[in-house]
Amino acid sequence: MLDFDQAQTLLANAAGPLQRHEDIGLNDAAGRVLAADLTATVDIPPADNSAMDGYALRVADWRAGGRLPIQQRCYAGDVPEPLKPGHAIRLFTGSLLPDGADTVVMQEDTVEADNQVEITRQPAPNQHIRRRGEDTMTGTPLLPAGTVLQAAHVALLASQGLARVSVVAQLRVGILTTGDELVPPGTPRAPEQIYNSNGPMLAALARGLGALPVHVLHARDTEADLLAAFKTLLADCDLVLSVGGVSVGERDLVKPALATLGGELSLWKVRMKPGKPVALAQIDGKPVVSLPGNPVSAYAVFAMLVSPLVRRMQGRDEIFPPISLLPLRTEHPRQDSREEFLRVQRRVADDGSGELVAYGHQGSGVISSMPWATGLARLPADVQVNDMDRVPYYDLRHWLA
Ligand code: AMP
Ligand code: MG
Repeated sequence: MLDFDQAQTLLANAAGPLQRHEDIGLNDAAGRVLAADLTATVDIPPADNSAMDGYALRVADWRAGGRLPIQQRCYAGDVPEPLKPGHAIRLFTGSLLPDGADTVVMQEDTVEADNQVEITRQPAPNQHIRRRGEDTMTGTPLLPAGTVLQAAHVALLASQGLARVSVVAQLRVGILTTGDELVPPGTPRAPEQIYNSNGPMLAALARGLGALPVHVLHARDTEADLLAAFKTLLADCDLVLSVGGVSVGERDLVKPALATLGGELSLWKVRMKPGKPVALAQIDGKPVVSLPGNPVSAYAVFAMLVSPLVRRMQGRDEIFPPISLLPLRTEHPRQDSREEFLRVQRRVADDGSGELVAYGHQGSGVISSMPWATGLARLPADVQVNDMDRVPYYDLRHWLA
C-alpha cells in the first residue's frame, strides 16, 4: 500500500512538459499555456493622458473667479497642441496630455461658457493624470511561462500590441474504457448490461483541463482487444488513460496487456477511499495511467492523482491547486483505517464562513453524488474527526481545471 501523497508525487513526475509549441491568435488563447516568459516592449500607458473628462491647464494660471480661453477640444485619439500660457484645453478620458499642462481639472469643477472655462475649485498639480508607464514599463516581466491564459492575461498581452502568442501544444489524451458489461449510451441495453459512464466522463475531464481527448475507445475484457486499443492510443496520444480491469479479478487483464506491450509497470494500492488500485506504465516513453472502474473512484482518482500529471505535461507552472481548511459538519464522529475522500458540498454558514457537508451515501458506485459535490474533504487515517473539525478541502473547481 502506498500513501496518497506518495502516489500523487509519483504520478505528477511520470512525465515532463510537452516540448511542442504553437503560435495562436490572441482570440483563441483562453485556457492555453504560455510557452515562454514574456517581457513588456511597450510602456503602458504609452503617453501621459487624462483620467477624467475635464480641462488641462497650468496650475499657475488659475485665479479664483478667473476664466481661461479654451485653446482646443482634444478628444481621445487626437493630437493635442502645446498648451499656450493662460489657456485651457478641453480633454476627455484617454485624451493625451498637452505639453505644458501640469494638471487636469474634472468637468464637475468647471463652468464653460462662450469658449471660456471657469475653474471653480483651486487645482493641485498632477491631478487626474495617468503617467506614461505607470501601469507597465518597457522591460519589466509581463507573464511567466506556464501561465494558463485567462481573460485578464489576454487583455495584458493585447495592451502590448501582441496579436499572436506562443503556447504549449494541446495535450493529446487517449481514453480506454474496459468491460464486457458495458454498452455505449444511445444503444439498446440488455438487463445484464450497464451504460458506459467513464468514457464520456473522462473525455469531459480532459477537456475541462484544456487537454484534447483524441480517442475514446472501448475494449472487451480480452488481452487481444486491450492490446489493439492500447496500440492505437499510444500511436496517437501523449498520455493514455485506461479505466477498469485493473483489480485482481479474473477478467482484470489491463496489467498483463501493459506488460505484454513492454511497459515498465508499477501497480499501487493507494491507501485512499474511494480509489485503491492505480497503475502506471511507461511505454514508448509515454505514461499510461490505469484507473479503477467505479465511476466515483475514477472521478476522484483523476482529480487528485491524474490532474497534476496532466498539468505538468501541459507545461503549467501550478501543478497542485490550493487546498483550504474548512470545518466539516458530521452528525457522528468519523474514523477509518484508510484516508478517506468524502464527496462534500461547500456551503456558506449563517455567519458567512464556509463549512462542508458530506453526501449521505458515500458508496463508490453512487454517480449521483458526483454532480452534487463541489469538492472532496480529506479525512486522515486512524484519527477521529468530530463535528466542525477543520479538514483539508480540495475544491473541484480548481482540481478539475
Ligand atoms: P472493474 O475495475 O473493471 O472491476 O470495474 C469496477 C466497477 O466499475 C464495476 O462495477 C464495473 O461495472 C464499473 N465500471 C467499470 N467501467 C465502467 C464504465 N466505463 N462505466 C460505468 N461503470 C464502469
Ligand atoms: Mg471490469
